[in-house]
Amino acid sequence: MNQTKKAIIIGSGFGGLALGIRLQARGFDVTIFEKNEKSGGHAYPLDINGYKFDMGPSLITAPDIIQDIFRAANRKMEDYLKLIPLDPYYRIYFHDGTYIDYQGDTRAMKDQMAKFNSEDAENYERFIAYAGKLHDAVINKGLGKRPFTWKAFLKFIPKAMKLWVPLPSYYAVKRFFKDFRNIFTFSFNTLFIGGNPFRTPSVYLMIPYLEKSGGVWYTMGGMYSFVEALETLFLELGGKIQTNSEVTEIVVENKTARGVNTGDQFYQADIVISNAHFAHTQLDLIKPEHRSKWNDRRVKKMSYSMSAFILYIGSRKKYPKLRHHTLIIAKRYRDLIYDIFERKILADDFSIYAHVPSRTDPGMAPNDGESMYFLIPVPNLAGHIDWEKAKHPFAEKVLNFLEYEFGLENLRDSIEVSKIITPLDFEKHANNYLGSAWGLEPKLTQTASFRPQNRSEDIKNLYLVGTSTHPGAGIPGTLLTSEATEYAIMNDFQHVG
Ligand SMILES: Cc1cc2nc3c(=O)[nH]c(=O)nc-3n(C[C@H](O)[C@H](O)[C@H](O)COP(=O)(O)OP(=O)(O)OC[C@H]3O[C@@H](n4cnc5c(N)ncnc54)[C@H](O)[C@@H]3O)c2cc1C
Repeated sequence: MNQTKKAIIIGSGFGGLALGIRLQARGFDVTIFEKNEKSGGHAYPLDINGYKFDMGPSLITAPDIIQDIFRAANRKMEDYLKLIPLDPYYRIYFHDGTYIDYQGDTRAMKDQMAKFNSEDAENYERFIAYAGKLHDAVINKGLGKRPFTWKAFLKFIPKAMKLWVPLPSYYAVKRFFKDFRNIFTFSFNTLFIGGNPFRTPSVYLMIPYLEKSGGVWYTMGGMYSFVEALETLFLELGGKIQTNSEVTEIVVENKTARGVNTGDQFYQADIVISNAHFAHTQLDLIKPEHRSKWNDRRVKKMSYSMSAFILYIGSRKKYPKLRHHTLIIAKRYRDLIYDIFERKILADDFSIYAHVPSRTDPGMAPNDGESMYFLIPVPNLAGHIDWEKAKHPFAEKVLNFLEYEFGLENLRDSIEVSKIITPLDFEKHANNYLGSAWGLEPKLTQTASFRPQNRSEDIKNLYLVGTSTHPGAGIPGTLLTSEATEYAIMNDFQHVG
């Protein structure tokens, strides 16, 4: 590059930080504007009287994808981030009291599955081989690391049909297993990335493969130490982060991005990249006259993922019944998912995902206590639930369930600190349209060529990075978007490595 190019990234989520590192390493002068006080986006930290929580994501998978970010800047991940393997990955309690300790070991998985259905256990390796082929297509063949062109799409169709890609994850898993518990164990994972298992294409079944082949990990200090590792590297490379700086407009002239406004202050840039929620970027940051493809109507018609109700609790008492990651599953599966994604109502029953980092990392809670969160998937704000009214009664219901039905004895009495967040907080904290916690829903018609592209389809020198562009969804997918977007940028600036 003859002259240093200036890049502005809006947002410091995993996508923004990872792309910041990549571009800074390629010679760009990168500034990240972040509306909040700290970096991290959904991976925000919370500390109440020494009880430490990760507010959002909790599972680290695909360490090789993380390594790639550090490699892009000629660094080693191990110098910044210490990953600790978890075993089991998580425990799933079913409504009938049975449970499965989900893990990577083939023998242990088959033994547990056989207790539910011996034929299912026999099919385990066949399922993993199938998931491995999906992983191979997306990761090893690079489809997730490059902008997804229509040419790539057409070329992928025969393979996609062979691998049943259009089939929703749940139905693909059902081809291998019969017992509800085994089907659930391998199909629910799409919920971790905001996808409805009955609608998310089976290509996302590469997640169980990612987990088996690459493990599930934790970093001491929680997910925020992963954010800090990326932030440290970005700053070391010379990047700048302006926190408490909300971008109010992407300034466009002659169909080209020229920089951003934060209130009445203008910052010039050669390229602008948005890591903010897709709908916020389009509807709030770009004037309608600059958007022909992504006009208001089209943006609002897209499907946005569910949201979450999260109860953070610091307790004096330990609860070994909860593993580091635990799922507590309601009797209803398909109908409950339907209530969340389609009917958008707050159902009477619920499934819970519990994160208890103090199980692995005593430093997360003082005085030998427990730091834990209970996440319940709920509809996004298109559902018109009055959360101001509903939040405390709903929390009571969850606490009653945990203490009296699930068996966390004296839970209420042992609570020292607590906090609740609802879809309203997702809307406020990170400008998430409809308070949708995971962004654009990863369904067939919003995947690959159908997902908003890494390079803006309306405006020159404007790019997207993060969960709502290709390949997107979940931390590994989000980190991959940084590679795909980097590719698009370097291609435009004729410096593809
Ligand atoms: C509750 C929860 C649990 C999850 N669990 C997991 C998990 O266990 N494993 C996993 O892989 N994934 C998980 N995910 C998904 C994962 O968190 C996301 O895929 C990932 O964090 C998205 O990163 P991102 O780069 O898209 O940016 P985001 O995290 O969405 O960050 C965007 C940033 O942009 C900033 N911003 C927005 N608007 C502006 C503006 N106008 N000006 C300046 N800054 C702005 C926001 O403040 C924010 O910091 C979870 C998500 C949630 C919500």
